[in-house]
Amino acid sequence: MLDQFILVPRIAYFSMEIALANDIPTYSGGLGVLAGDTMRSATDLELPMVAVSLVSRSGYFRQEIDASGYQHEQLDSWDPSRYATQLNAKVAVIIEGRTVWVSGWLYEMAGHTNGHQPVILLDTDLNENKDEDRLITHYLYGGDASYRLKQEAVLGIGGMLMLQALGFNIRQYHMNEGHSALLAVELLRRYAYPKEDVRAGETPYDIPRVRELCSFTTHTPVEAGHDRFPYDLVSRVLGDIIELSTLKTLSGQDSLNMTRLALNMSEYVNGVAQSHAEVSRKMYPGYQVHAITNGVHPFQWTSDSFIRLYDTHLPGWCHEPELLARADCCISDEQIWEAHLQSRQQLVELVHTLTGAELKPEIAVLGFARRMTAYKRPDLLFSNIDRLRAIAAKQPIQLVFAGKAHPQDEGGKQLIKHLHQIKDQLKNDITIVYLPNYDMDIALTMAAGVDIWLNTPLRPLEASGTSGMKATFNGVPNLSILDGWWHEGCIEGITGWAIGNSHEANADADANSLYDKLENVVLPLFYNDRAGWITLMKGAICKNAAFFNSHRMMRRYATESYIR
Ligand SMILES: *Cc1c(COP(=O)(O)O)cnc(C)c1O
Repeated sequence: MLDQFILVPRIAYFSMEIALANDIPTYSGGLGVLAGDTMRSATDLELPMVAVSLVSRSGYFRQEIDASGYQHEQLDSWDPSRYATQLNAKVAVIIEGRTVWVSGWLYEMAGHTNGHQPVILLDTDLNENKDEDRLITHYLYGGDASYRLKQEAVLGIGGMLMLQALGFNIRQYHMNEGHSALLAVELLRRYAYPKEDVRAGETPYDIPRVRELCSFTTHTPVEAGHDRFPYDLVSRVLGDIIELSTLKTLSGQDSLNMTRLALNMSEYVNGVAQSHAEVSRKMYPGYQVHAITNGVHPFQWTSDSFIRLYDTHLPGWCHEPELLARADCCISDEQIWEAHLQSRQQLVELVHTLTGAELKPEIAVLGFARRMTAYKRPDLLFSNIDRLRAIAAKQPIQLVFAGKAHPQDEGGKQLIKHLHQIKDQLKNDITIVYLPNYDMDIALTMAAGVDIWLNTPLRPLEASGTSGMKATFNGVPNLSILDGWWHEGCIEGITGWAIGNSHEANADADANSLYDKLENVVLPLFYNDRAGWITLMKGAICKNAAFFNSHRMMRRYATESYIR
């Protein structure tokens, strides 16, 4: 079963989370969906890779929302034996001075068009391990700093040892975010000079050689968002894994900063959109940060009705999504609108099933779904309730929300509650629904079924964002703050619309701009000029979907990051 994968040299892609399938809860949100799309595209393109992640047996969590609008978290356990094959290998990672055995699972990803790709899901839930160590790979982003460091040790160090034990031949290591940066420490140990060759005061490690082997994609545009561990915790959990002075030189003097470690150990570093790369260059002066703008997987994020349309008129689009640039000429307005109505009907049914609410035909639907946290500002639309009510009285709207808050993000949970209060407050004026337990299936149904995709983050905190790209594959235009990918994707009035301007972050100005656009541009076009609206839908497909896809992204990783 493994033999087919170990002969060819591969790129090892390390990610704390990965969205393999909707019913495999090893992801929390955008980062995991990106990891999944990365591997889906690599599979379709037959780019030899192997992904390494944690099995996260208890998942992220299943979201329940009580009558007051407050989020509660339930375990979302899954059984890896139903989807994956147990690996016949075990490796040892020393944690708190104990041997922690790490085994894992082989999930074979099958491509939509071609290929197979191995995904290794590491697992410490073994009889040999102490109870507390068996839990290390259970809870995605659960626990305290010590738990997180243990997870990152299993991912980075355990993952490296596992690849070696299984006989993989790895030509490059790609760290998706800093969580896996300890893999570089393991590589340093592997490429240490013999003691007698090291002069006093010199590092015993072949740092340039390790750097040649590593690539790093950073995703976090704020310093506070990066994982950091105090060195006393590091030495308690990891012991003297490498010489402390070298570790401090590479990872920061005050604490172990996983981003800094990854930056220092990677010859190729990139941000996930042009603007995010610029922000990262300012945050980490002295490092060369390239930009490879994210994309989403074409087949994964296109609704059935649009798949049929593209298959008929643009055969080959799943391998070469650039073909979508011709959608405006090859597909008639009626066909686009009919496909959209079918996607919309699926959303109507989902909303009814999950909430009992009825969305009305003919009334514009705006969608907003993503992690619920302060910087994403899900309540920006409600900054001035009277103004919103007045707009909706003349040109009605319906709103569909979804999203989970991290269990420890009390602010995010309060936002969900606030949205539920507003839903009640506006119930006679605007239909608002909140779909519980956001996941990949809901994401596709929403991104395809709404008329307008809304995103209102606080600049410059949205590194890229990908849900808006999903909308474009389904002809849904974006109405968004100019941040992340939308700096590149927005052509005003052609692919969608910008909220606010690109240089100033001011909540009042953003809210006013949002209201102005809705009232004077977006809704009049939707209600009074259907042909103009469909031209815009085609603009989203031709100019956004044709570019913001993960096939383009992976072809760039291959030619710029992996081969260099
Ligand atoms: C695409 C996706 C995200 C990312 O959404 P953004 O708007 O880019 O933050 C998060 N969660 C799920 C389930 C998704 O499918």
